[in-house]
Amino acid sequence: MAAAQRIVIENCSIATVDAHDTEYDTGHVVLAGHRIESLGAGRAPEGLENVVRRIDATGHLVTPGLVNTHHHFYQWITRGLATDHNLFDWLVALYPTWARIDERMVRAAAQGSLAMMARGGVTTAMDHHYVYPKGSGDLSGAIIGAARDMGVRFTLARGSMDRSEKDGGLPPDFAVETLEGALAATEETVKQYHDTSFEAMTQVAVAPCSPFSISTELLRQGAELARRLGVRMHTHGSETVEEEKFCHELFGMGPTDYFESTGWLGEDVWMAHCVHMNDSDIAAFARTRTGVAHCPSSNARLAAGIARVPDMLAAGVPVGLGVDGTASNESGELHTELRNALLINRLGAHRESALTARQALRLGTHGGARVLGRAAEIGSLEPGKLADLVLWRMDTLAHASIADPVTALVFGAAAPVTASFVNGRQIVENGRLLTADEDAIARSTRDEARRLAEIAAP
Ligand SMILES: [Zn+2]
Repeated sequence: MAAAQRIVIENCSIATVDAHDTEYDTGHVVLAGHRIESLGAGRAPEGLENVVRRIDATGHLVTPGLVNTHHHFYQWITRGLATDHNLFDWLVALYPTWARIDERMVRAAAQGSLAMMARGGVTTAMDHHYVYPKGSGDLSGAIIGAARDMGVRFTLARGSMDRSEKDGGLPPDFAVETLEGALAATEETVKQYHDTSFEAMTQVAVAPCSPFSISTELLRQGAELARRLGVRMHTHGSETVEEEKFCHELFGMGPTDYFESTGWLGEDVWMAHCVHMNDSDIAAFARTRTGVAHCPSSNARLAAGIARVPDMLAAGVPVGLGVDGTASNESGELHTELRNALLINRLGAHRESALTARQALRLGTHGGARVLGRAAEIGSLEPGKLADLVLWRMDTLAHASIADPVTALVFGAAAPVTASFVNGRQIVENGRLLTADEDAIARSTRDEARRLAEIAAP
């Protein structure tokens, strides 16, 4: 077998986000093939063979690539609508439009969502896709294909809904699947695409949408299916006070107790939002190692509330960051969520040290890898881990006068990405994608957004 080709990155600051938060003021990282071979202070070792590229990263901070843990790609073509609504009103306003999506729209929206994240330092993305209208084509295949083409590591959370208006749910009848249909299609998607290898670029999770759009049976059987297939489980939980009320009225208990009663707490589960959690809910998540995808911008946009992330971290709950769908976070960027997580959690806790810059960076990297079940492979810069990393430019007007690069990255403006690597392959250079044509994607997403608006017009 041919020796792996090496890429040497030198003269940069490094935040490894390893277990000890090891950092280097000036250091090097050596990539060999798909993996990180070595890193440390000063220049790279002399005499390395097969070096195909040497990057002088003076003025840069190198971090693990950002990991997004909650998103809905299809919403890229319904951004900027229902802008002054709470969650339930927003869902009711948008479901009739979402129910008209087709494969071409979903492919374009996935490309838009992925491109926006990748150029801002995301190396691992996820899509919780739960709208599968009849006759809409191969939506899961379109989404996975878009991620593969762009070279972004990816988890598809294969979603589903089977509780429509006629059963007391929120979505219209024509937007939902049957219980049996949803489970069969989810199993098929896992069997077709889920890769269990260390270097996996595509994984699949079982992901019924939310308590107010799914039956109790779909939750129960979804959990059984995921555990039989050995894949992770994802859903929305405790997002709003209205959801809490809904669960009490229908099930006679709060969302966390309802999830626990259906098999939905566990270290193979991560849940988006978790805003309305009392002490015993947080203790249940900590006890079962259930993960949380914290989505501060979306929670603010929909006035949902502020998740108790500092309390969750203190209790030992695994927490990552999520963009959430871009119909409730129009920016679609994860690097701005580092800053928003820090600021919003200080506001929520009314405590100036509630979250630090390094904790925010950890949420967006190692924390995300942990909730996606991939902390052994990605999320920190350590020898043997996969070469997913970002070179953030810190020597321009926006950041040059801030001495500490991690403070600059999190407290400062969104930093420019000079280079981003996934599996040792560079996918971004100077803020532009190398693996896709951003301008073509901008045009196709605009066209598909217009086509959807026309089809969905009453
Ligand atoms: Zn969501």
